[in-house]
Amino acid sequence: MAYLVSHPDEVKVISSRFGKGAADIDRYLELDGYKAVQMALQMGSEAVINEVKASNLRGRGGAGFPTGMKWSFVPKESAKPKYVLCNGDESEPGTCKDRLIFEHDPHAVIEGAMIAAIAVNAHKAYIYIRGEYRYLLEIMQKSIADVYARGFAGKNIFGSGYDLDVYWHGGAGAYEVGEESALMESLEGKRGVPRIRPPFPAVVGLWGGPTVINNAETLASVPHIIMMGGQKYADIGTPKNGGTRLFCLSGHLEKPGVYELPMGYNLKKMIYEVGGGISNGRKLKAVVPGGSSTPVLTADEIDIAMDFDSVAKAGSMLGSGGVVVIDDATCIVKFALRTMQFYRHESCGWCIPCREGTDWLNKTLTRFHAGGGLAKDIDNIRYLAENMLGRTFCPLGDAAAMPTIGFVKKFREEFEAHLEGKPCPFEKHGAISQLPVMSH
Ligand code: SF4
Repeated sequence: MAYLVSHPDEVKVISSRFGKGAADIDRYLELDGYKAVQMALQMGSEAVINEVKASNLRGRGGAGFPTGMKWSFVPKESAKPKYVLCNGDESEPGTCKDRLIFEHDPHAVIEGAMIAAIAVNAHKAYIYIRGEYRYLLEIMQKSIADVYARGFAGKNIFGSGYDLDVYWHGGAGAYEVGEESALMESLEGKRGVPRIRPPFPAVVGLWGGPTVINNAETLASVPHIIMMGGQKYADIGTPKNGGTRLFCLSGHLEKPGVYELPMGYNLKKMIYEVGGGISNGRKLKAVVPGGSSTPVLTADEIDIAMDFDSVAKAGSMLGSGGVVVIDDATCIVKFALRTMQFYRHESCGWCIPCREGTDWLNKTLTRFHAGGGLAKDIDNIRYLAENMLGRTFCPLGDAAAMPTIGFVKKFREEFEAHLEGKPCPFEKHGAISQLPVMSH
């Protein structure tokens, strides 16, 4: 995939420093770096939170929770230390945006985490990056060292009297740790499995202290919001969905890549104009709009605004911004199987519906795609997935179930075409497209 791409419809806010050498701290400073954090120190906690609330920034990790509101849940007084935690465990197949931020603008993440810390009066911020992003860990390590060398972190930052330490931490390679409470367990040196909630991290988080956890893209947006003002940022997007978003266009497209577009940008336009349309002259069959865990949309369902509320209204989720485009030569049963192979592999095995459900679905879909399916399997696949929904400790169970339900519901005729010992109808005719690349 070509990562540094561009299109005239892009509104470059988060990506404004991409390709400009901003991983170097001197260059970052030339490009207005570390001005926003100094402004935040002057503004104080409440004003910073109000500015972020006014921006209508919503969590870019997938859940879409309003960031300013999340920060306001952190108690003002706390007997235990408070923490800010950047979730850079980007693992959702189809998503590769945080990677670009860490590579091209790592200081924006650091500065965003520092502003979040000032907002909630925390004195320690951690930046957690997935283990497979080894080269990015090295970039972040150097960036944090540079920040300390300039006196921007540590004691008395920018001569303000405020102390703030920033640390980096590398994961060991587990999708599950992208879930915020599992990430905290991992950071504390334990096995990365989720915690029972409540209590929520804003009250009892890292080492039992109140903790703000935000996705890397969310935090990288914050310095821009402080610099341009919350209202101006909000005006770029749609009501309740402020600003821009890094959309990762992958799959059967002429021009795949990561594009920064306003929230609410039309999905059809995104595919046919920004992404250059379907590759090899084929037709569109389906779109996974927000990473592998989000329910599929058919080719007739894509004339929608890409914001959290509009995609939810269309029966799916904006998720992590990973738009996977599927052409008409792709076997949906095989796509469902490939998706389930991933979730089966990543299930931490702690709760039964997820551990057993992903394994059963993987086995059934494997047999089904190979031509050994029975008519009753189609309903069984859906029934099994529906019985995982809402019955697991963390969202991974839902993440495996939701797309499966969507595939059966919307492409039942493709499942039926695999019955009675027939081989895959797509592979039989030699027409199958290579499955879209859903990981990085
Ligand atoms: Fe582990 Fe899956 Fe249960 Fe999450 S839903 S805790 S990944 S077994």
